[in-house]
Amino acid sequence: MGVNGLMMQMPLLVSSLLEHAERHHKDSEVVSRRTEGDLHRTTLKEIAGRARQLASALTELGVQQGENVATMAWNNYRHLEIYYAVSGMGAVTHTLNPRYSPQQLIYILNHAKNRTVFFDQTFAPLVKGIAAHCPTVERWVMMVDEDKMPAELPTENVLNYEAILAKGDAGYVWPQFDENAACGLCYTSGTTGNPKGVLYSHRSSVLHAMVAGQPDGIGLCSKDTVLPVVPMFHVNAWGLPYLAMMTGFKLVLPGPRLDGASIYELLEAEKVTLAAGVPTIWLGLLNYVQQNNLKFSTFNKTLVGGAAIPISMIRALDALGVSTMQGWGMTEMSPLGTISKIQGPDLNLPKEEQFARIAKQGKALFGVDMKIVDEAGSELPWGGEESGELLVRGPWIIDSYYGGGGEKAFSIDDSGKKWFATGDVSRIDSTGLMQITDRSKDVIKSGGEWISSIDLENIAMAHPAVLEAAAIAVNHPKWTERPILVVVKRPNAEVTRDELLKFYDGKIIKMYIPDDVVFVNELPHGATGKIQKLQLREQFKDYQLPE
Ligand code: ADP
Repeated sequence: MGVNGLMMQMPLLVSSLLEHAERHHKDSEVVSRRTEGDLHRTTLKEIAGRARQLASALTELGVQQGENVATMAWNNYRHLEIYYAVSGMGAVTHTLNPRYSPQQLIYILNHAKNRTVFFDQTFAPLVKGIAAHCPTVERWVMMVDEDKMPAELPTENVLNYEAILAKGDAGYVWPQFDENAACGLCYTSGTTGNPKGVLYSHRSSVLHAMVAGQPDGIGLCSKDTVLPVVPMFHVNAWGLPYLAMMTGFKLVLPGPRLDGASIYELLEAEKVTLAAGVPTIWLGLLNYVQQNNLKFSTFNKTLVGGAAIPISMIRALDALGVSTMQGWGMTEMSPLGTISKIQGPDLNLPKEEQFARIAKQGKALFGVDMKIVDEAGSELPWGGEESGELLVRGPWIIDSYYGGGGEKAFSIDDSGKKWFATGDVSRIDSTGLMQITDRSKDVIKSGGEWISSIDLENIAMAHPAVLEAAAIAVNHPKWTERPILVVVKRPNAEVTRDELLKFYDGKIIKMYIPDDVVFVNELPHGATGKIQKLQLREQFKDYQLPE
């Protein structure tokens, strides 16, 4: 080892973001739609003060450093205060996805040994159902104005958020500790087996936010107004709550109302410039805007991720003056790994070329190293036609699951580097542009070929009568598997099976064209808004293909 540099050691702590915001962006606004029904306005300075009060009050209540403190809450200012109070005092902000089944939530709360659970009043019935099965929980804290506490409480030991906070000391001083300490915990849905915990550190969260905000990342500045539709329980709303303090942009939090009309109203009223969410959310918004012939006056950038974004959606957003960025990542990656966006001279490319590029998942952010490997684990070259499983490493990528499990996903290469297998199948071009072709579980394996379900869905979604489509494998005696398409039509639109299959002609090789189309009223969506392919495959497992 050479000599040490002579620079200060300043730990990258979540509380340092808040201290920065309090000094440099104190008047930046945070607007929240509350479960109380109104639109609430506050500033980063007030949030910082209340977070200190809450941290002090939690200390008085006996919350310890390193302890997991759970939330079951929408995007709102109180949730933001908890993020900072809990992590800032050295405890762990454990966001629960309230869309998980009660059984999963009970499992998670017991696994994480939560003693304190904060919840929005929307989730009172959920609390009522699970409380008896969560013996470690000592207090349930309802996030509502004190005078709006319901007469009938969901369980024993329910406290009021504002009452607790009022007892805290706003002069509380954030403790300093090792930046490798845990600051957040998020369980993945675990489509197979029990949910698994991903434990973030202060260092990983701060570094992730620093890189995510860069121009080739999400690209945000203090003059933006940002609406995270992506929930704060879905991988920390993709880091936006941390970026808000770092950057000082105006933050608009949509609370419980995520339908097209409500989101449109917020985008317009609060002059939002950038909004982030999963494709299903934009489907709802676009539908509403198109049906009512509306326009956006300030909203011009969107970050879409969590599932592949169809080109038709990128095109429709562009027609409304909104440019799309695609983000790819996962809970295990904090979540951002790559971003796909068009900037600079590339804005002169023909539009369709731009859209095709955005529809790929993008280039790695600094800090994220990636490679693709074949079934034997050998590295595949970039720039080839071949796709393989995508492996990643980096300072905000998981090293091991909380409490163990999932060891198969981790490997060490010949040079001693540790890699995490994402479970995604992808292709990387010679410039490093990465394209997910499938989740390995969703690939359609037909006659020795791998058919990309994402490609098939992309084509279907480009048909004007198609609202949403999922391509899945069904068993076939000769080809092992063949693709079928499960489709939801747009309201008042018509298309037949044959017309839709004909639509594939010339767009993809013949052998990849689905064998059949099934029209349904609705596709099943999981807790993070993704189409539940597992459930669909189960539903169609005995499906008889036409001769
Ligand atoms: P969960 O499975 O619990 O919902 P995540 O929300 O972490 O977990 O999902 C991560 C997975 O979502 C990725 O491995 C990938 O399959 C998929 N995904 C995320 N973003 C994209 C994207 N932009 N394009 C395609 N797939 C994506």
